[in-house]
Amino acid sequence: MAASIGIAIFPSDGDTYQTLLKNADAAMYAAKGDTSSAYRFYTPDLRRTVARKPALDEDLKHALDNEEFVLHFEPQVDVKSGRVVGAEALIRWQHPERGLLSPKAFMPLAEQTGQVVAIGAWVLTQACREAAAWSDGPAGPLNVGVNVSPLQLNLPNLVEVVRDAVGNSGLAPGRLCLEITETAVIKASELNLQTLSDLHREGVILALDDFGTGYSSLSHLKDLPVDIVKVDQSFVSGVFNDPADAAITEAIITLAHGLGHDVIAEGIESQGQFDFVRRHQCNFVQGYLFSAPMPGDQLAEFVAKSRFV
Ligand code: C2E
Ligand code: MG
Ligand code: MG
Repeated sequence: MAASIGIAIFPSDGDTYQTLLKNADAAMYAAKGDTSSAYRFYTPDLRRTVARKPALDEDLKHALDNEEFVLHFEPQVDVKSGRVVGAEALIRWQHPERGLLSPKAFMPLAEQTGQVVAIGAWVLTQACREAAAWSDGPAGPLNVGVNVSPLQLNLPNLVEVVRDAVGNSGLAPGRLCLEITETAVIKASELNLQTLSDLHREGVILALDDFGTGYSSLSHLKDLPVDIVKVDQSFVSGVFNDPADAAITEAIITLAHGLGHDVIAEGIESQGQFDFVRRHQCNFVQGYLFSAPMPGDQLAEFVAKSRFV
């Protein structure tokens, strides 16, 4: 069992019984949605989020059928050669009224309602299809990264979903990299670990996303069948102004290499950050310095003209 607690304080968060209860309720829902905490204090922006929820929830039900989701791809660069060797698929929702929505605006909701399972299957199919098309084009074979949500990881049939997506697209399984967050893995049951091993056996690459932001123990990392560790951008962004971030980034790279994994640094925005991770033998990089995420049909041209040395 788990408990989620919302806290509203008299009189700053409300001076009537009804307002206090309503605000505590909003805080409680925020606590539920936030996997890292069991309680939340009320803040005024929570009410706004909660007030927005029902409409978005309703729209989300039809978004797949209405074909409102699109994938953008963020190029990933091989540090040694300076060439683009792959791209991470990132979902966006082309909402009819609200415009292009970032995954942060709707994926937590999709996770809560379970819709993430169907959306995730669509992302897998679409990403494999687009990546297979690149391979036949002038860009040649590229890897494609797909984010897998915690709920998807719990599916007993995830291996089949992945096998179908790869098989129907004609993409080589070794070109697909599934990104699993550290938080999802911490909650991993025996079933999850078995799923990861089975995926590995299918020839799919596994990456641990946002590494360093969760609370996984190092023994976890030792036992997980992952190939790549992604250093979270919150560390990378601070390598210059925060000695602790620099130390953590360096330590994660050394640790991952020691365990035989490759390392991708995310969120590289400056030449200095690139130089730092390159100096510490990071294998791959991605971030706005190289390119923001772009529609799939622009990727081939970008790959052909780009070399980062
Ligand atoms: P993530 O997997 O860690 O993806 C990286 C995020 O950082 C992306 O945000 C990307 O646009 C952003 N980013 C990339 N380079 C830079 C940079 O240089 N500076 C800064 N400040 N940001 C950068 P985005 O697209 O908003 O995605 C946010 C998160 O949503 C992703 O984090 C991922 O966890 C989740 N997500 C995205 N697509 C999917 C999906 O298809 N399925 C699932 N389950 N989650 C997804
Ligand atoms: Mg990712
Ligand atoms: Mg990440």
